[in-house]
Amino acid sequence: MAQEKRIEYLQRRLRGVIQYAYKHSSAIKNILDSVGLKPRDIQTIKDLEKIPITKKSDLAELQKRNPPFGGFEGVPIHELRRIYVSPGPINEPGEMEYDELGWVQGMYAAGFRPGDIAINTFSYHMVPFGLNMLDNSLQRVGCVTVPTGVGNTEQQVHILRSLKARAFCGTPSFLLNIAEKGVEMGLDLKKDFNLQTGLVAAEMVSESLRSKLEEKFGMIIRQGYGTADIGCLGYECIEKNGMHIPDDKIVEIVDPETGEQLGPGDIGEVVGTTFNKVYPLIRLGTGDLSFLSDRPCPCGRTSPRLVKILGRVDQATKVRGLFVHPWQADEVALKHPQIEKYQVLVTRREHKDEMTFQVELKEEGSQSEKLKEKIERSIRDVMKVRGNVQFVSKGMIPDGAKKIDDQRTWE
Ligand SMILES: [Zn+2]
Repeated sequence: MAQEKRIEYLQRRLRGVIQYAYKHSSAIKNILDSVGLKPRDIQTIKDLEKIPITKKSDLAELQKRNPPFGGFEGVPIHELRRIYVSPGPINEPGEMEYDELGWVQGMYAAGFRPGDIAINTFSYHMVPFGLNMLDNSLQRVGCVTVPTGVGNTEQQVHILRSLKARAFCGTPSFLLNIAEKGVEMGLDLKKDFNLQTGLVAAEMVSESLRSKLEEKFGMIIRQGYGTADIGCLGYECIEKNGMHIPDDKIVEIVDPETGEQLGPGDIGEVVGTTFNKVYPLIRLGTGDLSFLSDRPCPCGRTSPRLVKILGRVDQATKVRGLFVHPWQADEVALKHPQIEKYQVLVTRREHKDEMTFQVELKEEGSQSEKLKEKIERSIRDVMKVRGNVQFVSKGMIPDGAKKIDDQRTWE
């Protein structure tokens, strides 16, 4: 679908869901009323900016005040099929007929095909992901599902082997468990298994783990991204080129402070809007940071892509008016292989913010003024804020220390 057509299509569905939700969801009505909006005020994706963002992290509290769904449900409770409970705890209303497209598109893009035997190792208890979203999406693709759920690694190995499952759904770390168990049991992961493709989610897969798993099994692995509340917000295609936004979601990247939409390439919070009438979440702030690309993808899909999930909004810290993020600090450290460990300290002296990179080097005694200057230059390039490097001896930075430690006190 050409870009203008896509926007037209999304806006038509947006108007539909806003009309519907205003009438049927008390929470959405309250949100619009709180800023004096009527459904007719929301005509375009740009108009969404007028609607306050609902933070995912606030859902548990909102539901506690107005159980069981905080008023976000779009149908009476007796019309639900199930109530799911996600960690938080957050309740999710479960529709009679699951008809979202996102995970279906993600599976197809990853190479799932009709007739494939697919093992679904996501939990089937409590949460909506394995049972509702993925199980139904596998059916929609035409796969034959083996609903194993998570755990029982040895049994999973037997199942994969005897059923010759071609497709895998699960977390990358669980697939690694399966690989390790298979090897331990003396199996050849390529010959004894028939895994060709995997859709992984729930945790971001590092490129090193991805290629390790792809190589071990002789399969491809593609990842999807979303939340239990709103479903799929992005999926990778064969090009591994960022995550395409599914056709039944609106995804905005916004300034986390103002809620204003940002353009392609600008880093901000991922905010999702769904057309799901049973659970019509409008502008759900995920708390995740990413940026969009609208450059054409060689796969032929024309939807924009979330290039990468960079971290969490609440882990960012403002230094001299600019956001600094743990992933930026990682990027600085990656540029200098001499660095063994680091921690960024943010302090305040005479009403001025100061940022200090404490650095442990791999080789004790290799500290030099030149290296210090080089790292400081990288800090300026990557983080756009000046910072000082301070070499510390090995063991000074505790294991599991916060990457950015904000030590400022505000009186
Ligand atoms: Zn693509």
